[in-house]
Amino acid sequence: MKVGVLALQGDFREHAHVLRTLGADVVHVRRAEELPEVAGLVIPGGESSVMDKLARTFGLAGPLRDAIRSGLPVYGTCAGLIMLADTVLDAIAGQESLGGLDVAVRRNAFGSQNHSFETDLDIPAIGGEPMHAVFIRAPIVESVGPNAMALATIADGRCVAVEQGNLLGTSFHPEVTGDYRFHEYFLGKVAARA
Ligand code: GLN
Repeated sequence: MKVGVLALQGDFREHAHVLRTLGADVVHVRRAEELPEVAGLVIPGGESSVMDKLARTFGLAGPLRDAIRSGLPVYGTCAGLIMLADTVLDAIAGQESLGGLDVAVRRNAFGSQNHSFETDLDIPAIGGEPMHAVFIRAPIVESVGPNAMALATIADGRCVAVEQGNLLGTSFHPEVTGDYRFHEYFLGKVAARA
């Protein structure tokens, strides 16, 4: 069972490392032909506007949308969450998302790189201890539609993790903290579908 990491831009190497550590057979996905090979896909953090542009330039955006709608398990972190959101607030002109998650996210909701922060989150869906979460120029989930479910909120009650069927998204970056419960949760979805 192969698991893909969208490798157009961003911290795809970190995600590949985590998934391999958890025993997955990981492939980098850069071309549409590589998509049918994978049983799940991680969309990494990075810069969503650039990722969007590259996905469209390389003819991946359409096939990715189709795969998402046909039930491929996809986990997006930060820029990846933005890519999965149906609505993107503060997008740059012409920026598109792939969609799939019934949410509106706001890019750079906490300010610039200098306003990056870390906090501990209670996440019942993944169980156990609170998870240490790192936010880097992170988006916030401003509204969660009826088809999506909030998995975690920060202290002020705003949502930073969501799930909807085959899709999972976090504003933060579990790939940089050594706590791989979200990736395990995602691999559980991949295994369940396979
Ligand atoms: N601010 C970035 C964007 O809009 C996301 C940052 C990240 O992925 N760490 O895509």
